[in-house]
Amino acid sequence: MRDPEGIARVLREADSVCICSHVSPDGDTIGSALAMRLVLLGMGKHVRVFCQDKVPDVLEFLSGAEEIQFPEQNTEQYDLFLSVDVSDPARLGTCGPLRDCCRHTAQIDHHGTNPDFAEVNSVDGDASATCTMIREQMKHLDAPLTKEIAECLYAGISTDTGNFSFDCTDPEAFRVMGDLLEAGLPLAELSMRLFREKSKAQLKLLGRAVEKMTFEADGQIAVMTLTMKDFEECGALSEHADTLVNYGLETVGTRMALLGRENGDQRIKFSLRARAPLTVDDVAASLGGGGHNRAAGISMEGSLEATTRQVVRAMKARLQEKNGK
Ligand code: 5GP
Ligand code: MN
Repeated sequence: MRDPEGIARVLREADSVCICSHVSPDGDTIGSALAMRLVLLGMGKHVRVFCQDKVPDVLEFLSGAEEIQFPEQNTEQYDLFLSVDVSDPARLGTCGPLRDCCRHTAQIDHHGTNPDFAEVNSVDGDASATCTMIREQMKHLDAPLTKEIAECLYAGISTDTGNFSFDCTDPEAFRVMGDLLEAGLPLAELSMRLFREKSKAQLKLLGRAVEKMTFEADGQIAVMTLTMKDFEECGALSEHADTLVNYGLETVGTRMALLGRENGDQRIKFSLRARAPLTVDDVAASLGGGGHNRAAGISMEGSLEATTRQVVRAMKARLQEKNGK
């Protein structure tokens, strides 16, 4: 349930706030955290932002991105812990223990599977992005929308709606975009930066991933895998693979796609995608992951080959169930 009034109350009461993003951060969790940082600074609060992993290069231009710290760097206590776009406590990663340094906890999130793990929860599984909820939250705080905040919110909404093309894209997303444009959002410049421009390493990695793509279930499932060696040979980082799974789903005839990547830490990160009416959040949840209907993820221990086989098997089973076979 959305609870912007409840969140506004605890934010007003707090003098110091610790904002946390989820592991392997994306535009929505970083955009939400940095927008809330600016809002709270504007209200005269003391604010710090934390994330287990580094901010993707492509988001470094957002105002305050350089202020984001790793949780190990923290030396302070806070009145309030606020997580944004974090679907469950495990997604806090090493930010989880920061809760012990805070008097109270609150969260704003848009994952339907969120177990309401904070004291005050504003959670709406139907919101297209956490950043659209942040815009609503700002209205409840009478916070002014600046160009810098608009850029942060745009990063989140555009990321989670697949640049306004996924079926989660709703009227609210466009209404918020109207506000952002009025606040001076340089849309063409930022959409070039976030969605079109690619580094050479990223293009190389794209080529590698597409060349290695295989298909299962008569071409209905696209399977992509990237090893540490692939990343090294392309000079690319894990974050450069963040949207590659879409190429699998965009191949004619596919209904589901997965990308498995080695992360160099014994864990394999999987991105799962489905075309409507198929779903992958259930597939992810059955293997310890989670996410949204059409875009979900899992982090699994094991070899890339073995874990990929496991995910493919679960996807095939889901497909057969749906096909009524
Ligand atoms: P992506 O594939 O873009 O990393 O993630 C797609 C969606 O799945 C996001 O909403 C993200 O929050 C969720 N997700 C990704 N990885 C995991 C994971 O390991 N565990 C859970 N619970 N959700 C994940
Ligand atoms: Mn999100």
